[in-house]
Amino acid sequence: MTGTLYVVATPIGNLADASPRSIEILRSADIVACEDTRTSRTLLAHYGISARTVALHAHNERESGEKLLRALREGSQVALVSDAGTPAISDPGALLVAAAHREGLRVIPLPGPNAAIAAYSASGFVAESFQFVGFLSTRKKHSFKELDVPWPVVLYEAPHRVLATVTALLEHCGPARELVIAREISKKFEEIARMTLAAAPAWLAAGPHRQDGEFVLIVGPRAEVPAELAEGERVLEILLQTLPASTAARLAAKITGVPRKELYASALARDRQGAK
Ligand code: SAM
Repeated sequence: MTGTLYVVATPIGNLADASPRSIEILRSADIVACEDTRTSRTLLAHYGISARTVALHAHNERESGEKLLRALREGSQVALVSDAGTPAISDPGALLVAAAHREGLRVIPLPGPNAAIAAYSASGFVAESFQFVGFLSTRKKHSFKELDVPWPVVLYEAPHRVLATVTALLEHCGPARELVIAREISKKFEEIARMTLAAAPAWLAAGPHRQDGEFVLIVGPRAEVPAELAEGERVLEILLQTLPASTAARLAAKITGVPRKELYASALARDRQGAK
């Protein structure tokens, strides 16, 4: 009989958020694979669990994964946890899970805490779908294209970068776009605040601890552009390739019926963006 790989979500702050089922699985597992064994021992000790722990983190996921697969093949029950929240969500674990599937091993998720879902549930955005992007700042190039969508976008951010990221979001998305800042979810200094991007830098600067802790940022949906305006912008873009802003705006206005003033302002804004 081969073993089962349990993917166990653990608390993102409040230890009482661990589900009874997750505790039961951690107690009965032969091995608990941890992102950081010291961090997970706090949780295990809190519930009086003295499991055998093995490290599985971003730097050893392949080698450690091999050993865990061997143990699974030999019949061990393995519980996979990350430092906080759900494994494989902006955390290690996906490679081991993929390998387990390749080998036909059983994988069972233990649903539970996740910062993105907790923040989204408290955001009040009314939308049929949303996009989870994770950490923007670890990506090589910030095009911020992920933000140009008519649905909410969920980001993770580190405290030392949160102000810079919010300032960049303001620049890219404009002052009117909405933002929810979810700080320290389920912890003592939890704050969930909804505001415009224009107000966000001041909110973060408002207290000595406002930029401390862990953050989820949710950028509200981009406003839908009316079809006529979209057509005006499309024509303007083509004309701007060969004409100066004022002529391009005048012609685009004539062709599409969009007010010239609006298109001229857009042409100047494109100019400024291009000059950056
Ligand atoms: N796997 C985790 C999950 O399921 O949410 C995410 C791990 S990721 C390495 C850590 C990031 O999640 C933090 O930098 C922060 O953006 C977010 N996060 C984790 N715990 C949080 C909390 N209590 N409050 C707000 N954000 C949190």
